[in-house]
Amino acid sequence: MTVPFPFRNSYANLPERFFVSVAPREVPAPRILKLNRPLAAELGLDTQALDSVQGAEILAGMRAPEGAASIALAYAGHQFGHFVPQLGDGRALLLGEVVDVHGRRRDLQLKGSGPTPFSRGADGRAALGPVLREYVVSEAMNALGVPTTRALAAVLTGETVVRETLLPGAVLTRVAASHIRVGTFQFFAARRDEEGVRALADYAIERHYPDAANAPNPYRAFLDAVAAAQADLVSRWLLLGFIHGVMNTDNTAISGETIDYGPCAFMDHYDPMAVFSSIDRQGRYAYANQPAIVQWNLARLAECLLPLLDDDQEKAVASANEALAPVLPRINGNYRAGLRAKLGLATEQDGDGDLAHDLLDVMAANRADFTLLFRGLADAAADPAADEAVRTLFADPAAFDGWAKRWRARLAQEPNVAGEARRAAMRRVSPAFIPRNHRVEAMIRAAVDRQDFAPFEQLLAILARPFDDQPEHAEFMAPPQEEERVLQTFCGT
Ligand code: AMP
Ligand code: MG
Ligand code: MG
Repeated sequence: MTVPFPFRNSYANLPERFFVSVAPREVPAPRILKLNRPLAAELGLDTQALDSVQGAEILAGMRAPEGAASIALAYAGHQFGHFVPQLGDGRALLLGEVVDVHGRRRDLQLKGSGPTPFSRGADGRAALGPVLREYVVSEAMNALGVPTTRALAAVLTGETVVRETLLPGAVLTRVAASHIRVGTFQFFAARRDEEGVRALADYAIERHYPDAANAPNPYRAFLDAVAAAQADLVSRWLLLGFIHGVMNTDNTAISGETIDYGPCAFMDHYDPMAVFSSIDRQGRYAYANQPAIVQWNLARLAECLLPLLDDDQEKAVASANEALAPVLPRINGNYRAGLRAKLGLATEQDGDGDLAHDLLDVMAANRADFTLLFRGLADAAADPAADEAVRTLFADPAAFDGWAKRWRARLAQEPNVAGEARRAAMRRVSPAFIPRNHRVEAMIRAAVDRQDFAPFEQLLAILARPFDDQPEHAEFMAPPQEEERVLQTFCGT
């Protein structure tokens, strides 16, 4: 049986220096662990054909389906502020592109499919744990309404992957609007390959921001559009307590999707300086630094585009700066509006920013759980009797009372909104369920240590409906007990 893929590849038609072809490789025992059937259907794939021995071989990277591109993409990037002129897909390959049922072009990429010319001595493989982590967290992000790459499949390869310990090998099939990153532009700019930058920009405009093509300066319009998309993305992260963890320029997608789930984490108690990644020793990518970092990453993109922005160097720099100037105000605006919604405020008043920030300050001082707090406020907005549940989230419950009084006084100035409608609106922006670190770790331990995939399936099912009360899964709402607390997350384990 052959597995049909309706490939409509375009990246492979770009100049040869944009990628290298990668041949399939043998793996001992490919086995599908999970197939995302709704996503497969959205992509126009034949799910039944895919769910087969040959499908497993394709998704493990040992057999290229007909019409596949099978290429590893070239890119560079700033990693923790240091420029690396060549990174590239060291353990991934672009199987090909399909046009989904909505008419959107999507990349199908295998991650963990073996070494490529970009592997730089590393093994090109992925361990089961990180594959399941990315599967769960990226699908949760999608359900939370955040632009993100998706997970189409997780397969076991039957290989042993050598990390600090020996681990089962796996491959994730990742679906993305594209895999063009800020670092892809940097790859060509670093080589002073202006034609490469231009060809990539033209391609990215056509694929992601076709309206920019009609602007007086399409490249400037492109930069504006990427900046807006990334600003909006980071705002959403902030409002959910998400910390990406490795916001290197090679992990900043031109499409505005969240990409590369390595040591990412959702915070439990609110802490603006929260850092989980074991490799982020300076806290460069701490929660509250994310707006400044995304602006920095966008400045690196702007640098690459300078020759396209204007022939006159000074004018090009001025244009780039104009494009970057709105980034932080846009994030701040989104963030403030998002916080107002989380507080149940449909209108805007002068003191609203202070009201929100004072709450965040008390939360930080009292280690209040970010997710439970805002979810609890929705109930409290409808019924003051629900205050008690919110108070207990604070180390000193009385710390909530003074703020709550001000909040109620402010709610009273809102136009007449029925308590129930306000509660519903607040619950739509403050989920009950997030992929809490300790749950993700426990899910990985069960899969890796005991070949028990039930927790993976359960977590996926719960996180598919993050805004719904699921009283039967109340324990998944809870923050970790002290001994369950995950202090560090890792990239490659
Ligand atoms: P990341 O930290 O995941 O953004 O990856 C940074 C770079 O390291 C990219 O070029 C990856 O392709 C490469 N890389 C990460 N893990 C591996 C691996 N196990 N084998 C080969 N390359 C890798
Ligand atoms: Mg990466
Ligand atoms: Mg990674």
